[in-house]
Amino acid sequence: MTLHNVLDFAKEVMNQSINDGDIAIDATAGKGSDTLFLARRVGESGKVYSFDIQKEALDQTSQLLHHHQLDNRVTLFQQGHEQANSLIPVEEQARLKTVVFNLGYLPGGNKQITTQTNTTVQAVSDFLDMLPSGGLLVVVVYHGHEEGKKEKEALETYSTQLNQQQVQVLRYEFVNQVNRPPFLLLFQKR
Ligand code: SAM
Repeated sequence: MTLHNVLDFAKEVMNQSINDGDIAIDATAGKGSDTLFLARRVGESGKVYSFDIQKEALDQTSQLLHHHQLDNRVTLFQQGHEQANSLIPVEEQARLKTVVFNLGYLPGGNKQITTQTNTTVQAVSDFLDMLPSGGLLVVVVYHGHEEGKKEKEALETYSTQLNQQQVQVLRYEFVNQVNRPPFLLLFQKR
Protein backbone atom coordinates (compact mmCIF):
# COMPACT_ATOMS: atom_id res chain seq x y z
CA MET A 1 0.00 0.00 0.00
CA THR A 2 1.29 3.45 -0.92
CA LEU A 3 0.35 6.66 0.88
CA HIS A 4 -1.08 8.94 -1.79
CA ASN A 5 0.18 12.48 -2.09
CA VAL A 6 -2.43 15.11 -1.26
CA LEU A 7 -3.67 15.69 -4.81
CA ASP A 8 -3.87 12.00 -5.66
CA PHE A 9 -5.70 11.30 -2.42
CA ALA A 10 -8.20 14.07 -3.25
CA LYS A 11 -8.80 12.49 -6.67
CA GLU A 12 -9.21 9.05 -5.17
CA VAL A 13 -11.84 10.30 -2.73
CA MET A 14 -13.70 12.24 -5.44
CA ASN A 15 -13.55 9.22 -7.71
CA GLN A 16 -15.38 7.18 -5.09
CA SER A 17 -17.88 9.94 -4.31
CA ILE A 18 -19.08 10.69 -7.86
CA ASN A 19 -21.37 8.55 -10.02
CA ASP A 20 -22.69 8.91 -13.57
CA GLY A 21 -25.30 11.63 -13.79
CA ASP A 22 -24.12 13.57 -10.74
CA ILE A 23 -23.50 17.29 -10.51
CA ALA A 24 -20.04 18.45 -9.43
CA ILE A 25 -18.47 21.85 -8.89
CA ASP A 26 -14.92 23.05 -9.40
CA ALA A 27 -14.81 26.19 -7.26
CA THR A 28 -11.37 27.24 -8.57
CA ALA A 29 -11.01 26.22 -12.22
CA GLY A 30 -7.44 27.49 -12.78
CA LYS A 31 -5.86 25.57 -15.67
CA GLY A 32 -8.76 23.15 -15.69
CA SER A 33 -7.31 19.86 -14.56
CA ASP A 34 -9.88 19.34 -11.78
CA THR A 35 -12.71 20.43 -14.08
CA LEU A 36 -11.55 17.88 -16.66
CA PHE A 37 -11.38 15.17 -14.00
CA LEU A 38 -14.91 15.98 -12.80
CA ALA A 39 -16.29 16.17 -16.35
CA ARG A 40 -14.98 12.69 -17.10
CA ARG A 41 -16.31 11.33 -13.85
CA VAL A 42 -19.91 12.63 -14.05
CA GLY A 43 -20.39 10.97 -17.43
CA GLU A 44 -22.62 11.99 -20.33
CA SER A 45 -25.68 12.60 -18.21
CA GLY A 46 -23.83 14.57 -15.52
CA LYS A 47 -22.94 18.22 -15.25
CA VAL A 48 -20.02 20.29 -13.93
CA TYR A 49 -20.06 23.95 -12.91
CA SER A 50 -16.68 25.69 -12.74
CA PHE A 51 -15.79 29.05 -11.27
CA ASP A 52 -12.83 31.35 -11.65
CA ILE A 53 -12.49 35.12 -11.47
CA GLN A 54 -9.80 35.22 -14.18
CA LYS A 55 -10.58 35.06 -17.89
CA GLU A 56 -7.07 33.66 -18.46
CA ALA A 57 -7.91 30.67 -16.26
CA LEU A 58 -11.27 30.01 -17.88
CA ASP A 59 -9.70 30.26 -21.36
CA GLN A 60 -7.20 27.55 -20.39
CA THR A 61 -9.97 25.41 -18.87
CA SER A 62 -12.13 25.87 -21.93
CA GLN A 63 -9.30 24.84 -24.28
CA LEU A 64 -8.55 21.75 -22.21
CA LEU A 65 -12.21 20.68 -22.23
CA HIS A 66 -12.49 21.35 -25.96
CA HIS A 67 -9.39 19.24 -26.60
CA HIS A 68 -11.05 16.33 -24.77
CA GLN A 69 -14.47 17.03 -26.35
CA LEU A 70 -16.07 17.46 -22.95
CA ASP A 71 -17.18 21.11 -23.18
CA ASN A 72 -20.84 20.14 -23.39
CA ARG A 73 -20.83 18.79 -19.81
CA VAL A 74 -19.39 21.93 -18.25
CA THR A 75 -20.70 25.44 -17.55
CA LEU A 76 -17.97 27.98 -16.83
CA PHE A 77 -18.66 31.07 -14.72
CA GLN A 78 -16.28 34.01 -14.65
CA GLN A 79 -17.54 34.79 -11.15
CA GLY A 80 -16.28 34.30 -7.63
CA HIS A 81 -17.30 30.99 -6.03
CA GLU A 82 -18.98 33.06 -3.29
CA GLN A 83 -21.66 33.87 -5.91
CA ALA A 84 -22.48 30.18 -6.53
CA ASN A 85 -25.65 30.20 -4.49
CA SER A 86 -27.39 32.44 -6.96
CA LEU A 87 -25.91 30.76 -10.05
CA ILE A 88 -26.51 27.02 -9.55
CA PRO A 89 -30.14 26.21 -10.35
CA VAL A 90 -31.94 25.12 -7.16
CA GLU A 91 -33.34 21.95 -8.80
CA GLU A 92 -29.75 20.87 -9.63
CA GLN A 93 -28.44 21.48 -6.12
CA ALA A 94 -30.17 18.27 -4.96
CA ARG A 95 -27.99 16.27 -7.41
CA LEU A 96 -24.80 17.94 -6.24
CA LYS A 97 -22.31 15.30 -5.11
CA THR A 98 -18.88 16.90 -4.91
CA VAL A 99 -17.27 20.34 -4.69
CA VAL A 100 -13.52 20.90 -4.98
CA PHE A 101 -11.37 23.93 -4.12
CA ASN A 102 -7.69 24.23 -4.99
CA LEU A 103 -6.80 27.40 -3.13
CA GLY A 104 -4.12 29.93 -4.04
CA TYR A 105 -3.09 31.49 -7.34
CA LEU A 106 -3.17 30.35 -10.96
CA PRO A 107 -0.03 28.28 -11.66
CA GLY A 108 2.11 30.34 -14.04
CA GLY A 109 -0.21 33.33 -13.60
CA ASN A 110 -0.31 36.51 -11.49
CA LYS A 111 0.57 35.52 -7.91
CA GLN A 112 -1.23 38.59 -6.58
CA ILE A 113 -4.58 37.19 -7.75
CA THR A 114 -5.28 34.55 -5.18
CA THR A 115 -8.24 33.12 -3.32
CA GLN A 116 -9.13 35.29 -0.31
CA THR A 117 -9.84 34.19 3.25
CA ASN A 118 -13.28 35.78 3.65
CA THR A 119 -14.72 34.67 0.32
CA THR A 120 -13.20 31.20 0.66
CA VAL A 121 -14.82 30.60 4.05
CA GLN A 122 -18.09 32.13 2.82
CA ALA A 123 -18.13 29.85 -0.24
CA VAL A 124 -17.24 26.71 1.77
CA SER A 125 -20.10 27.49 4.13
CA ASP A 126 -22.54 28.13 1.25
CA PHE A 127 -21.59 24.89 -0.50
CA LEU A 128 -21.96 22.91 2.72
CA ASP A 129 -25.49 24.31 3.01
CA MET A 130 -26.15 23.38 -0.61
CA LEU A 131 -24.77 19.81 -0.46
CA PRO A 132 -27.25 17.01 0.22
CA SER A 133 -26.56 14.29 2.78
CA GLY A 134 -23.45 12.28 1.84
CA GLY A 135 -22.12 15.09 -0.36
CA LEU A 136 -18.40 15.78 -0.27
CA LEU A 137 -16.45 19.04 -0.24
CA VAL A 138 -12.70 18.88 -0.84
CA VAL A 139 -10.33 21.77 -0.10
CA VAL A 140 -6.63 21.71 -0.98
CA VAL A 141 -5.02 24.31 1.30
CA TYR A 142 -1.76 25.92 0.15
CA HIS A 143 -0.30 27.91 3.04
CA GLY A 144 3.20 28.72 1.79
CA HIS A 145 2.18 32.28 0.81
CA GLU A 146 0.79 35.19 2.88
CA GLU A 147 -2.92 34.93 2.05
CA GLY A 148 -2.65 31.15 2.24
CA LYS A 149 -1.53 31.35 5.87
CA LYS A 150 -4.63 33.39 6.71
CA GLU A 151 -6.88 30.98 4.78
CA LYS A 152 -5.34 28.04 6.65
CA GLU A 153 -6.03 29.60 10.05
CA ALA A 154 -9.56 30.70 9.14
CA LEU A 155 -10.43 27.27 7.73
CA GLU A 156 -9.02 25.53 10.80
CA THR A 157 -11.15 27.73 13.05
CA TYR A 158 -14.21 27.33 10.83
CA SER A 159 -13.96 23.56 10.41
CA THR A 160 -13.23 22.67 14.03
CA GLN A 161 -16.38 24.45 15.25
CA LEU A 162 -18.73 22.66 12.81
CA ASN A 163 -21.31 20.42 14.48
CA GLN A 164 -20.13 16.81 14.05
CA GLN A 165 -23.74 15.63 13.80
CA GLN A 166 -24.07 17.70 10.62
CA VAL A 167 -20.66 17.61 8.97
CA GLN A 168 -17.65 15.31 9.36
CA VAL A 169 -14.28 16.94 8.69
CA LEU A 170 -11.11 14.99 7.94
CA ARG A 171 -7.62 16.47 7.59
CA TYR A 172 -5.06 14.66 5.41
CA GLU A 173 -1.53 15.93 5.82
CA PHE A 174 2.05 14.78 5.70
CA VAL A 175 3.60 16.12 8.89
CA ASN A 176 7.31 15.66 8.11
CA GLN A 177 7.61 17.27 4.67
CA VAL A 178 9.64 20.44 4.15
CA ASN A 179 8.45 23.78 2.67
CA ARG A 180 4.93 23.84 4.07
CA PRO A 181 3.29 21.35 1.69
CA PRO A 182 -0.44 21.62 0.98
CA PHE A 183 -2.92 19.65 3.07
CA LEU A 184 -6.45 18.48 2.47
CA LEU A 185 -9.65 19.21 4.31
CA LEU A 186 -12.49 16.82 3.46
CA PHE A 187 -15.99 17.76 4.58
CA GLN A 188 -18.85 15.28 4.33
CA LYS A 189 -22.47 16.19 4.99
CA ARG A 190 -24.20 13.68 7.28
N1 SAM B 1 -7.60 23.54 -9.77
C1 SAM B 1 -6.83 24.40 -10.63
C2 SAM B 1 -6.13 23.58 -11.69
O1 SAM B 1 -6.43 22.38 -11.82
O2 SAM B 1 -5.30 24.14 -12.43
C3 SAM B 1 -5.88 25.31 -9.88
C4 SAM B 1 -6.59 26.43 -9.17
S1 SAM B 1 -5.53 27.76 -8.74
C5 SAM B 1 -4.55 27.10 -7.45
C6 SAM B 1 -6.62 28.87 -7.89
C7 SAM B 1 -7.56 29.62 -8.81
O3 SAM B 1 -8.56 30.25 -8.01
C8 SAM B 1 -6.90 30.74 -9.63
O4 SAM B 1 -7.04 30.48 -11.00
C9 SAM B 1 -7.68 32.00 -9.21
O5 SAM B 1 -7.94 32.89 -10.27
C10 SAM B 1 -8.98 31.41 -8.69
N2 SAM B 1 -9.73 32.28 -7.78
C11 SAM B 1 -9.30 33.26 -6.95
N3 SAM B 1 -10.34 33.79 -6.28
C12 SAM B 1 -11.46 33.14 -6.69
C13 SAM B 1 -12.84 33.25 -6.37
N4 SAM B 1 -13.29 34.12 -5.46
N5 SAM B 1 -13.71 32.41 -6.99
C14 SAM B 1 -13.27 31.51 -7.92
N6 SAM B 1 -11.97 31.37 -8.26
C15 SAM B 1 -11.08 32.17 -7.66
